[in-house]
Amino acid sequence: MMEPRRILLFGGTFDPPHNGHMALLESACSAVRPDLAVVEPAGIPPHKKASATPAQHRLAMARCFESVWPRVLVDDTEIRRGGKSYTVDTLGALQARWPGAQLYLAIGSDMLLTFRIWRHWQEILQRAVLVVHSRRGGDEPSLREFARSLAAEGGRVVFAPGRVLEVSSTQLRQALEAGRTPDGLLPPMVARYITDHGLYRPSARPEDGEP
Ligand code: ATP
Repeated sequence: MMEPRRILLFGGTFDPPHNGHMALLESACSAVRPDLAVVEPAGIPPHKKASATPAQHRLAMARCFESVWPRVLVDDTEIRRGGKSYTVDTLGALQARWPGAQLYLAIGSDMLLTFRIWRHWQEILQRAVLVVHSRRGGDEPSLREFARSLAAEGGRVVFAPGRVLEVSSTQLRQALEAGRTPDGLLPPMVARYITDHGLYRPSARPEDGEP
């Protein structure tokens, strides 16, 4: 395997992965054409409650991203490390493994706007170019303005145009737990996995006749 020179990191909770994630990864890869895209499901994401779905399921579902680009590595480093996952550490691990590679970090627009609360965000900017995909129609102007403020601090930001899908994992979990099947928002492999493993099942209520 040739040493990758351009590596794109795409981290997330992926509880579950959805077509918004697919759109982000697709447009980020088209924009920067990495030699390798590393998908990194979080152990415990720092700004969220501990994920309810066991890491092994999230890791298995994240394999849906393998179809997006010729070289995708679904990596389990953060999950094996356990504890909170910090992007700055994962970028450091990629640099140690592939010294000299240019790193890119794919993020949705919500993550760009909260970027300054990330642990060691200045160091992240030194290590990687941010590749941003819009999560909400019409948020372009505020994103560009924010990108300019980061550029003033040495940050490099690339915009990746593509399909904008206003969907979140939270919304999908809620729909599934309420017994609804979301249409067209889950990659088929993920929809199958959820059914096969009985994930996000409607919680049993007393009127269901459960003891
Ligand atoms: P949750 O609803 O559980 O908070 P989420 O849908 O926001 O989850 P994450 O796994 O936290 O998904 O997101 C991982 C990355 O994907 C983040 O950079 C996030 O901004 C991005 N992302 C999530 N949903 C979308 C979307 N619909 N369009 C573009 N990017 C997205």
